[in-house]
This record gives sequence, C-alpha cells and structure tokens, in this order.
Amino acid sequence: MKFYNKLATVSVTSAIVMGSVLGNAQSTFASSGGNSSDQPADVSYMGNTKNPKNVIFLVGDGMGPSYNSAYRYFADNPETKEMDKTAFDNYLLGTQRTNPDDPKENVTDSAAGATAFSSGHKTFNGAIGVDANKQKVKTVLEQAKENGKSTGLVSTAEITDATPAAYAAHVDDRDKKDEIAQQFYNDKINGKHKVDVLLGGGAEYFGDKNGNLTDKFKKDGYDVVDNKTDLQNSTSKQVLGLFADNDMPLQIDAPEKNPKLVEMEDSAIKRLESNDKGFFLMVEGASIDKSGHPNDVTGVMSEMSGFEKSFDYAMNYAKSHPDTLVVATADHSTGGMTIAKGKDYVWNPKAIHQMKHSGSYMTKEIAEGKDPEKVINDGYGFEVSNSQISKIKDEAEALKKYDEEDKEYEAQFQKLQDAIQKPINDKSHTGWTTNGHTGEDVNTYGFGPGSDRFKGNIDNTDNANNIFDFFKHDVKQ
Ligand SMILES: [Zn+2]
Repeated sequence: MKFYNKLATVSVTSAIVMGSVLGNAQSTFASSGGNSSDQPADVSYMGNTKNPKNVIFLVGDGMGPSYNSAYRYFADNPETKEMDKTAFDNYLLGTQRTNPDDPKENVTDSAAGATAFSSGHKTFNGAIGVDANKQKVKTVLEQAKENGKSTGLVSTAEITDATPAAYAAHVDDRDKKDEIAQQFYNDKINGKHKVDVLLGGGAEYFGDKNGNLTDKFKKDGYDVVDNKTDLQNSTSKQVLGLFADNDMPLQIDAPEKNPKLVEMEDSAIKRLESNDKGFFLMVEGASIDKSGHPNDVTGVMSEMSGFEKSFDYAMNYAKSHPDTLVVATADHSTGGMTIAKGKDYVWNPKAIHQMKHSGSYMTKEIAEGKDPEKVINDGYGFEVSNSQISKIKDEAEALKKYDEEDKEYEAQFQKLQDAIQKPINDKSHTGWTTNGHTGEDVNTYGFGPGSDRFKGNIDNTDNANNIFDFFKHDVKQ
C-alpha cells in the first residue's frame, strides 16, 4: 500500500490509523480539512442523508480554466450588455491539482488523470487502473458494483480510451485497447459484468478482430446498438452502444443518426436509476481535449457546448433526486488556449459561430482526398484571405506525396492542420502554446450531497477518495 504525500500532511497519519484497505480514508480529512467550513466534516462521513446514493461524475477532458472562460464568451447573447453565466458558473466548488506520479513527466495525460479520478492513486502517464508500481488498483466503479449498484461509462471517444478505461480496466499502457475491451467483458464482480451501460465510440475493438465481443455481450443479455434510434428504443437495463469505429465525430460535424453526449447520458441514467441501491455513472466530454490538441477552437466550442448540456442535464437530475451527487471537472488543460492573442484586447467568438465545420473535420476531409477548394467553401463561414487559401492548398498538395505509413506523413499532416486552423484562430484572436497538455489547476463544479467535500483546492485523487468514502457508508437497503 502506498500513500501519497502530496495530500495534506495530517491526512497520512490519519489514514494509517484508519487502515483502509485501499488507502483512501485519508480523503475524509484531506479534502475536508479547512475548506468546507460551512458544514461539519463528519456529516457525510458518518453516512446519513448527506451521503449520496448516486454519483454522476463528469469529465471535461482537457477542459482547463481558459476553456470555461472562453465558452462563457462564446455562449453569451451579444444582444444584452451583461455577460451571461454558463451552466457551470453557479456551481464552482474550487480547483484541483493534476500532476501525475511519473518518472519523466510532471504534466499529466488522460490515463494517469483518470486513474487518479477512478482509484485515488497517482500514477505514470499511460497507466490505466494501475499504480506507479503497475499494481492493479480498485476503482470507484468496481466498488459501486460490489455494493450492488448499477454502473455506466459514457464517452464521445472510443469507450476503450483512457478516461473510461481507467474505471473498469487495468493495463500498464493506454494503447492496449483490445485488452481493455476484453477486460470490459471478462472481468466480473460477484459473477456480474462490471459495467452495465457502455456508450461511445470504438466499435473497432469489439468486432471480429477482437473476439466478437459485441456478440458475447448480446448473448449475456445486453442490447447492442449503433445509432440513436436503436439506443432510444432499447429497453434493456444493460446496453453496449458503439456509434463510431473510433472516436465519435464532433457535435458540429456529426450526422443526425449519432446520439449527442446528453442523449447518451439520458439513456444511461434511465437504465441505471431503476436500481434501488443506486448507481455510479462517468460521463466524458472527450473531444474537448481531442480538439485542443490540433488547436481547433471551433471543435473546442462545439464540444464545450455538448458538455455543458450534459452538465445541465445532470444538475437538473440532482435537483429532483436529492440522493444524487454531481461532480464535474477536467483531467488537465490542453493546448494552452488563450483568450485574445496579439496586441488587441479582443476575443471574437462570432467568427467561431460562423464556422460550419471544425478545422479537424476539414483537415480530415482534405487528407482523405476531397477538393480543398470545396472543403474551404463548405467549412469556413467567413471570407478567408487568398494567401491563407493558397497556403492550405500548398500543404494539401504536399501531403499527397506521402503515404499514411510514411514517417513524413504525420509532420505534413500537422502542417496542413495548422494552415486550416490559422484563419479561424486569427479571426477569433485565439492563441495556443502547444499541441500537448498543460499543467495548470482545473476547475471543480458540483452539487448534491457530499459536494462540500470537493471544495477548495483539492487533489485529483480526492475525487476517488471522496467517492470511496461515500460508498463505504452506503445506507444498506
Ligand atoms: Zn489529450
């Protein structure tokens, strides 16, 4: 058992005294110490009505604080003088630290971030449900299942991607997606599948190349669906919904047949809530991060909007179900997005509203051989300068020289991508510093019983530690 001295120092001795098997008892003291002054720390700890029966944990992947602020500008009604609040703004609880426990890197990836969220253990980048010594660690989803609750994972990424994977799989490398999908099927708790509702992309890892897992799930009573209509018509308590081979398309680019994040969330909750013992549901807005990497501000706003709707939905659910806790946070920030670049004190979301497609979508279309001229005309909703158009065409032409397998391909793809993102980043005055992640603290939002425990500046491991603690004090049905 390993304790992490990054938590409040007083908590380490307390946790040892507590002797929790999972080493998570320290959260009782660590996260409530000094930052929940309006409520006695022991209220939720003692397991009364302040102990949530249901937990909805929302992850805005890559949703650093600048994303929340930028989205406020973007969502604001320009007709009114005051800037409108977003759905998140009234529920800010505090911030959280995101650093991993990695021998080489001190800025986290989504795997280490999600393992902290799911298990309460800091670990190395790439790790899925294993600690820094590659030992399997129990997750809050597994604890929920042990307690007889229903469980769900919902993501706009592949459902085997780092964030959902870290709740129900244990591998030392996030790229082992076949194995992650296998574990979703094979690992059981008390003879039952761990996850009752799995919704997202990643069909590739459930088909005939990986042991026909969809068929196996079907045989075990799951409804298996691949479009919104079938999802909504399905009445089974257990469902596997795979809506894309890989990541789901961004909301701005998605075909009608695809469910939106909030529709997947709604479908999940309707199945999970029938369990008297409660449920644990993780909902991930994954493509916030996936748009941040290519510095695609249009994609970021598209996915922030989808995530806000999911957050709002969860909040409304919690208000009408007082036994439900909702927490929303991010695993890290992505891209170093800046609201205003250059010398002017201006950020212009109007240009982003004019976009008809994300830059990532346009890049992919051109890379797949579509006529750049047509992609440009169909994608930007404003006039792009001739020099910027020529630059895009030149980079598109250069990409044609390479095969996807060539080592030069990736670098040239990046050049094309940068050329496509530049007009909208210039027009909207959006700055970026990297194609990777950045290490600033991220915001925590929440509501419902136990939400006080997430106040102040907490550690990303406290999310799991708090939830473990709630589940430890589950009221026996
Ligand atoms: Zn990322």
